[in-house]
Parts: sequence; structure tokens; C-alpha cells
Amino acid sequence: MNCVSKKYVSLMNKVLDQEATEQEKQVLFEHLATCAECRVHFNELKESTELLRRLTHPQLPAAFTESVLNQLPPDKRNAIHKWGSRHPVLTTVAICALPMSLVVIGSRRQTRNRNGYALVKVSGDQT
Ligand SMILES: [Zn+2]
Repeated sequence: MNCVSKKYVSLMNKVLDQEATEQEKQVLFEHLATCAECRVHFNELKESTELLRRLTHPQLPAAFTESVLNQLPPDKRNAIHKWGSRHPVLTTVAICALPMSLVVIGSRRQTRNRNGYALVKVSGDQT
């Protein structure tokens, strides 16, 4: 790069990271308007930043679930569908049971830790 000023490269990164002030943006864009070399470099940076952003936030196509289901072997697909529609209550319970049991286990553990001992239920009247 003939343009020796590293100032513009760090400004480019700042602008692309959306951390630049309006004034800094103006300084950069004014320079880009006159310096073709920096303009090319900026465009390259911009492209790779956008690519990176797209990779970290992948956009699933709308038909993603459908295409995954279509790739399953047909008998398995039907089994999942049939089981789910034949036992809607069981399916719902199965989905809810796991987080529920984790919550119960978690809260029990918390009680025990806080008091140093487990609460024991004593049956009957002991007076
Ligand atoms: Zn330049």
C-alpha cells in the first residue's frame, strides 16, 4: 500500500465495527473519495467483515426443517410423525418433563446447600 498512513486502516476497522464517531467516518470517507488504493482495501475489509457476520449468524432457509425431514429415511420420518400424532399428550409430557425435572433437582439441591442439611418430613403429631 502506497498510502502509508496506518491511521486509515484502523479507521476502516472502527467504521466496520460500528465504533467510529461521525467525525471519524467523515474523515475516512473523505480520504476514500480521493484514494483508490484505500477504497479497494476498504471494500475488501467490508466484504470479509460481512462474510464473517453471516457465518456467525447463519440464516437458515425457510424450508430448512422440511429439507432435513425429507433427508430422513421415509420409514423413520413416518415413525416420528405417527408416534407424535398418536401420542400427542405423551410427546408434550416428554418435552416438558426434562426441564421440569431439572428445575426440581436444582431447587432441591439449593435447599440442601443453604441449610446445610436436607429437610426431613416428620409424619404424625409428636407432642
Ligand atoms: Zn489512502
